[in-house]
Amino acid sequence: MLVRHQYRAHFIHEDEVERLLQRATGATPATMRKVIEKARLAQGLTIDEVALLLGTMDAATEQVLYSAAHEVKLEIYGRRVVLFAPLYVSNHCVNNCRYCGYRQDHHFPRRRLTMEELEEEVKALERMGHKRLALEAGEDPALCPVDFIVDCIRTIHAVKLDQGSIRRVNVNIAAATEDEYAQLKEAGIGTYILFQETYHRPSYRHWHPRGPKSDYDWHTTAHHRAMRTGLDDVGLGVLFGLYDWRFEVLALLQHARSLEEEFGVGPHTISVPRLRPAAGVDLSTFPHLVPDRDFRRLVAILRLAVPYTGMILSTRESPPMRDWLMDHGISQLSAGSCTGVGGYQREGSQDPGDAGQFEVEDRRSPDQMLIAICESGYLPSYCTACYRKGRTGDRFMSLAKTGAIQELCEPNALLTFKEYLLDYASPKLRRVGEKLIEERTRAIANPRLNQMLLEALRLVEAGKRDLYL
Ligand code: SF4
Ligand code: SF4
Repeated sequence: MLVRHQYRAHFIHEDEVERLLQRATGATPATMRKVIEKARLAQGLTIDEVALLLGTMDAATEQVLYSAAHEVKLEIYGRRVVLFAPLYVSNHCVNNCRYCGYRQDHHFPRRRLTMEELEEEVKALERMGHKRLALEAGEDPALCPVDFIVDCIRTIHAVKLDQGSIRRVNVNIAAATEDEYAQLKEAGIGTYILFQETYHRPSYRHWHPRGPKSDYDWHTTAHHRAMRTGLDDVGLGVLFGLYDWRFEVLALLQHARSLEEEFGVGPHTISVPRLRPAAGVDLSTFPHLVPDRDFRRLVAILRLAVPYTGMILSTRESPPMRDWLMDHGISQLSAGSCTGVGGYQREGSQDPGDAGQFEVEDRRSPDQMLIAICESGYLPSYCTACYRKGRTGDRFMSLAKTGAIQELCEPNALLTFKEYLLDYASPKLRRVGEKLIEERTRAIANPRLNQMLLEALRLVEAGKRDLYL
């Protein structure tokens, strides 16, 4: 029988965090710059070192921090960014998270997609060119059990529209049991993502007044259970704005450290959602909202702390903020997102049942976003190769840490972007994109790789799809 109380998030040491934050207040610009110089080696930072970057930082040191984050971002990820879309399959929820439009006390018509509706959603996403989804659902063991999520994953993989296909389904659902994680593994999920929201226990209690999610220890130990079951890739995240962001950054790194110590590999991704307006949520009741300047700083600091962990940003942020963050740490962006259930097919619907989980700030279509990405010198990527080649968990990390992954990311980005241009792009994007592909292909110095890529691009041009290294 499952005994929830046996789970204890012993790896979050609030006393250590508080002690480090105290110490951080005395960090001088010289100490901070020393830490930043070390971070430029792209080998990561210890939690103690990160803490030294959290004290008051003068404007000049802040610029040094940003230039280091930019450098590390380019060294590990190059000038490319991976795109994905969220897919909400159910907004039934038995929790009452005070910051969320789906909380139980917020009354609106709830819905869960039928498999037929899900197929239509997936077709709409495939028409937008998406290959990688993050499946999202509220927590409701009766109306949205893991069996339903498993059915969704299978259905999503089965939908093929013209040249479209979904090649990776990441799953963002509530903390589950080991048996349930085993079911998800069996169904072939990509990354299992679960946001902690806040690591600060008293704040966690306040924001999660009831429902299964109100159990801090059960929720916080979810990734450990998932990895123990054999899920290789897990994603962490904080909803910035629920408590002091400095505390959250250090506790998040304690969480990552614990996974690395126990399983030999840390989180595959870290998401950095920032609190946004949502239906029935009054932002003036949140005393820890994160201003833009601090938000930039925390993303840059995380980039330096865990250089090999992908960082994910949603459409909660405005286009200029997203562009800046992409340059200083973010490696995955959502595009053309809808945060309501069934929203892709019913774009513009006024049905209250389509209410989103939060308000979207970046409303650019994928086409508009891709043009902006290309114009800023970045290469959009729809690559899902690692997961499909079995490069997950420690196999992925060993490639990432030696830098060898770069050799694969760039050609895969070029191949998948080429597919996008041929199948979905507007004439303007095609013009901009083809030029970029040509330049970036020419820049691949390894002659063997260059030759292979040219041949693969020719095959894509001739109609072949889903080629990857
Ligand atoms: Fe439910 Fe998730 Fe919203 Fe909480 S954050 S109310 S668990 S959908
Ligand atoms: Fe991601 Fe692997 Fe593709 Fe690189 S090659 S973009 S790490 S899936």
